[in-house]
Amino acid sequence: MLRAYIVSTGTELLLGSTVDTNSLFLSQRLTELGIKVEGKVVVGDDARDIREAFEQGLRRADILICSGGLGPTKDDLTKDMACRVMNCKAVLVEEEAERVKAYFMKRGRPMPPSNMKQAMFPPEAVILRNERGTAPGMYLRKDSKLIVLLPGPPHEMRSMYHKELEPLLIADYVLSKQNSAHRVIKVFGPGESQLEVMLGELIEKPQGYNMALTAKAGEIHIGIQVFEEGETHRRQRLDQITAQVKARLGLHVFGIDQDDLLQVTVSTLIQRNKTIAVAESCTGGLLGKILTDLPGSSAYFWGGVISYSNEAKQRLLGVSQDLLENFGAVSRECAEAMVRGLVHRSGTDLGVAITGIAGPSGGSEEKPVGLVYIAVLYRDSCTIKEVRLGGQRDMIRMLAAKSALDTVRRILMDEER
Ligand code: AMP
Ligand code: MG
Repeated sequence: MLRAYIVSTGTELLLGSTVDTNSLFLSQRLTELGIKVEGKVVVGDDARDIREAFEQGLRRADILICSGGLGPTKDDLTKDMACRVMNCKAVLVEEEAERVKAYFMKRGRPMPPSNMKQAMFPPEAVILRNERGTAPGMYLRKDSKLIVLLPGPPHEMRSMYHKELEPLLIADYVLSKQNSAHRVIKVFGPGESQLEVMLGELIEKPQGYNMALTAKAGEIHIGIQVFEEGETHRRQRLDQITAQVKARLGLHVFGIDQDDLLQVTVSTLIQRNKTIAVAESCTGGLLGKILTDLPGSSAYFWGGVISYSNEAKQRLLGVSQDLLENFGAVSRECAEAMVRGLVHRSGTDLGVAITGIAGPSGGSEEKPVGLVYIAVLYRDSCTIKEVRLGGQRDMIRMLAAKSALDTVRRILMDEER
């Protein structure tokens, strides 16, 4: 796979006064072309730093793309450094010299001699036209390496990329814009580092694809990008990798691409024709709200009990005073008593109970903020899950409701296997 390295130059980028949007743009475009971006770096307008960045980039990749530093002033050094690392010598290109002179003539201004720098290129280079400014870019290919210099101003850089650079890359490296495809595998349960261990060499040593993890609201999304000619091949490759990932992660995987946890859980309930009821303490009805977010929820949702106080747990669910005194409201025992009391009253196929400490107060060493018990009763068997959630109150409640949903999903899907 063709590899690229991006260098953004400009002291202003290091001072925090300008955001480096150029490398973002270039990363996106190169990835679209099926070129793997190995790395990128931001350096100031310093000859040694630029040179080191170029050398490092060329060691790590086949293609180095640099933006900025193409102007006529002393701090514009990228062309000098590119020539140096590629072992080329810049000479005056007549045609370019005329163009620069004409530019000044047209504006009736004298041309500072330093501007002739913009007309100097090694004979091996392809000069990239700049329709939006005075500084041309450079495409210098030698041996198996390529250095590309683009101007810093984003609109000049983008226009040069589209009009000049991309066609050259496509032609020289036989690339096609349509040769990549992407899929997201969605996971709930394990954390990022745990997932990395489970994925092992699939993520450590990917063979001809990219894989990256993104954490999102308690979920982890595994992004996979493949590069193959032909749509069928791309789909086959994605299916193959998906199967390998699923073989390692099993029920932790809840969906792909557009799937979401609620919709996946609800469709399993509907498919099996199952009804569900909820008994919520720390989530205060959030799970019931989520379960009714989809139209048609009356097909599976019976209703619920917001049993926030101990009294409500006793009077509405039949949790005994003894149990509450012995184990406390935030306990496995209480979660189980809540869900058994609930299903006894609702007569639904499934019941879910949630009890926990959402904080910020109310935690103790033994029962810290974020400790939540989730109990699911199905076919008279009670599954109790203890989770320790991080974040603020809202986050803890949201994650508790999602964990409950996920527990239901796992129980139903496990039965299917
Ligand atoms: P230069 O070609 O180095 O003279 O850059 C000219 C101007 O382009 C700078 O003053 C910045 O405002 C802008 N610029 C340069 N590099 C970047 C970059 N990586 N991302 C966004 N803007 C940039
Ligand atoms: Mg600059």
